[in-house]
Amino acid sequence: MTTQLFTAPPTAGGWSLVLHGGAGGRVEELSLEAAADYSAGLRTAYRAGSDVLAAGGSALDAVCATVEALEDDPLFNAGRGAALTAAGTAELDASVMTGDGRAGAVAACLHARNPVHAARHVMEHSAAVLLVAPPRAVLEDWGLTTVERDYFLTPARQQQLRNVQDGVLQGSRHGTVGAVARDVHGRIAAATSTGGMVDQTEGRVGDTPVVGAGTYARDGVAAISCTGHGEAFIQGVVAHDLASRVRYLGTPLEQAVADTVAAELDPRGAIGGLIAVDGDGRIVVGHNSPAMFAAYSDGTQVVTHT
Ligand code: ASP
Repeated sequence: MTTQLFTAPPTAGGWSLVLHGGAGGRVEELSLEAAADYSAGLRTAYRAGSDVLAAGGSALDAVCATVEALEDDPLFNAGRGAALTAAGTAELDASVMTGDGRAGAVAACLHARNPVHAARHVMEHSAAVLLVAPPRAVLEDWGLTTVERDYFLTPARQQQLRNVQDGVLQGSRHGTVGAVARDVHGRIAAATSTGGMVDQTEGRVGDTPVVGAGTYARDGVAAISCTGHGEAFIQGVVAHDLASRVRYLGTPLEQAVADTVAAELDPRGAIGGLIAVDGDGRIVVGHNSPAMFAAYSDGTQVVTHT
């Protein structure tokens, strides 16, 4: 498998942001949707995070704002428009982590309109790191916006599920969204959110809410958000493996991304990708999938990958 790598320095403002909208094969995903629509959604999400960072806000606020925008966009596999389970339901997973070592996550979250905010709440206001199916009343006590379960369902995802179950749609069943950032104070953070894999068994949880697998951050080292075949990312503890290469071996971020994909994904036959930012604000997008939705600044302008 060939790994495609893209890298860019921090913005002129001294902050960095990169987001992803899932790895897979564009044609195999919701092919009725135009690349232009995806690109517009990626740009809107990038702006949500970059506005925070440009105003001197925190990396945590930036990644949560970015992921919230992607969760609200029905094109992406998170929040409304998430990929559906075999039963046609949406079970949402999300996590956040800050470089100072704090983390929060939710799995099979059914009623938080924005699972990323539920994950952040777990991190900031509970004794837990990971909560499974937090009750609606609890989410409301936390002050989060809640919705009925059918809020997450879209006709496009229901059609995608039928296509997968009928064998019409083969190959990639991935998605997931995420963001990593470094703010002007040098703090880094990562957030990831997903509906999981299309047609997954109810109760299946992938790498997204598993700290060290789908999401990881450590100040001065790297913040990472992953997308792809979640079981392989858990088995390879991919995000932590990447950070460890930077931390213990001193491997530059771009090389570390390539090395982790080669060591932990390729041998498992797993397709996916990740985004990362290092302690100096250099960002990397890497994937061994044919395509990966992403947005970042190349130094002069915002570029999107569709
Ligand atoms: N990693 C996610 C999961 O396994 C799916 C994806 O990123 O496409 O749940």
